[in-house]
Order: sequence, then C-alpha cells, then structure tokens
Amino acid sequence: MKRQIAFIAHDKKKDELVELASEFSDLLRQCVLLATGSTGKRLAEDVGLNVERKLSGPFGGDLQIAAEVVEGKIDCLIFLRDPMTPQAHEPDVNALVRTCDVHNVVCATNLATARLLLSHFQSPRHNHN
Ligand code: PGA
Repeated sequence: MKRQIAFIAHDKKKDELVELASEFSDLLRQCVLLATGSTGKRLAEDVGLNVERKLSGPFGGDLQIAAEVVEGKIDCLIFLRDPMTPQAHEPDVNALVRTCDVHNVVCATNLATARLLLSHFQSPRHNHN
C-alpha cells in the first residue's frame, strides 16, 4: 500500500512547503498525495507532483481532509500553520489537528517536524512501498 500524505500550508508558509516538497520529491512521487486547493496547486505547478486537490481551506478543504483522516485514509498530515496570522477558518484548522490526535495520525504543524517525518519515511527501513 502506498503511503498517503496530506498537505496544507497557510499562505505565508506555502513557499516553505514548496521547498520542503522539492527536497523530498523522490519520496513524495511514490506516495499518494492530497492537499487543500491552493496548497495543492503550488505542489503541482512548482514541484510537479501529482496531487489530489480538495477545496481551498477557507471553503472547507481542511474539513474534507479531516473526513479522510476519520475514515483512516491518511497516514500523515503535514500542516504548516502560520501562528502569527489569525485564520478566518480557525475552528476548522483546530478541528483537523484535533481529529489527527483523536485518531492517532502522524501530524506535523511546523517545518522542523515535517522534515523529521519525511526523513524518517525516506529511510529504507521505513519505506513501505
Ligand atoms: P489553501 O488552504 O491550500 O487552499 O490555501 C489552506 C488553509 O488555509 O487551510
């Protein structure tokens, strides 16, 4: 089974996510990728990844990804949050992170943790593909 990874990045974090995804593009090409709308667009256009795009976060994309977490379809969420800028859809943001905690799904909310996770997945011992 391919590993399923979901990505979300708030606007000020999208450049960092693109950089991270470029760094790990070989690994990510072997996974099934999902993302909220604009994040997915950046990953597709700037990194050339094949990404299933949900709605944009403010339109419910976070909740669509939360639903997939509930259904056991996501192995790992990388959610680069911008803690400095209040988000109009903050309740959805919190709901998604809570959902990962409820279902014990791997969840990184900052770049350092995200890099650590992807490095771990890259190591041959943990490569399930
Ligand atoms: P976006 O949504 O990828 O469509 O920008 C992210 C968010 O704001 O949660």
